[in-house]
Amino acid sequence: MRIEQTASTPEDDLKNQPVIRSLRVLSSGWGEQHREHRYGSLKPRLWWALTSRSWVKVPINYFLIEHRDGPLLFDTGLDPAIVSDPQYINSAIGRFLMKRIFRLHLSEDDGLDKLLAKAGVSPHAIGCAVISHLHFDHVGGIRHIPQAELLVSEREWAQLSEPHPEREWVLKEHIERPEAKWTPFVFSPSNDPLFEGFAGTYDVAGDGSMILIPTPGHTPGSTSMLIRRNGWAPILLVADLAYEATLIEKNIVPGTGDKQALLSSYTKVRLLKERLPDLVVITSHDFSAAEAISRAIGKETA
Ligand SMILES: [Zn+2]
Repeated sequence: MRIEQTASTPEDDLKNQPVIRSLRVLSSGWGEQHREHRYGSLKPRLWWALTSRSWVKVPINYFLIEHRDGPLLFDTGLDPAIVSDPQYINSAIGRFLMKRIFRLHLSEDDGLDKLLAKAGVSPHAIGCAVISHLHFDHVGGIRHIPQAELLVSEREWAQLSEPHPEREWVLKEHIERPEAKWTPFVFSPSNDPLFEGFAGTYDVAGDGSMILIPTPGHTPGSTSMLIRRNGWAPILLVADLAYEATLIEKNIVPGTGDKQALLSSYTKVRLLKERLPDLVVITSHDFSAAEAISRAIGKETA
């Protein structure tokens, strides 16, 4: 079924006042991950983590959105302290495995505070950050935005109460900061046929411009964001559901996460793309993100 674009365009956009003003990619340096991590492996995770010699370069991206009500973030990137502070990760096994799973290349200039300054936005102006999932490379900047509401799905948040979240790269010591305004949210049932199949939606600004949808698999509570603005192709930020958007089309899951849940989320994203044929899917660790966003923004859909 083809949904008419006008049916899914935020109301104010129809009055020619876009509620979303810009969407920019921020990047906290770059890293390297194993080929098996990015493109999948039949071998167990620990096996390739310890034996693989093939490394692929990846960016550590997140996104700055300028909404009419103020700027907000989709994820917050890495904290440069992860390379400068040898004790950044509390657990010794975590420190051991980190070096075998990721090689990280970033400096103090790659922190959220510095990147926002370069973008001409004060960290104090950020009212909200949507956190796609709780991995260390998505929550590293939260210390710079203590005033911001940190939106995370309730399912993702529940990981903190499960045994040993650090084994899944959820580092409590950098999440449960006293000043952080974490706001776990629940997806509400939606009767919009556009989202049929998804287990609910969450409308960030209440105007339809930024709709969160559950896309579990990489982590149990992973969340994607659909951005819609008149004159732009619809954009779906999927974070780490896949490491490249084409892998969702090809049904290739990475070497980490819950395979069945990933495949199920892939199917739902492909269905969404059938309903929104211009949909541009953007992952967080793909060097082509900025170019894909430029194309989506330049493209007229009306
Ligand atoms: Zn990530």
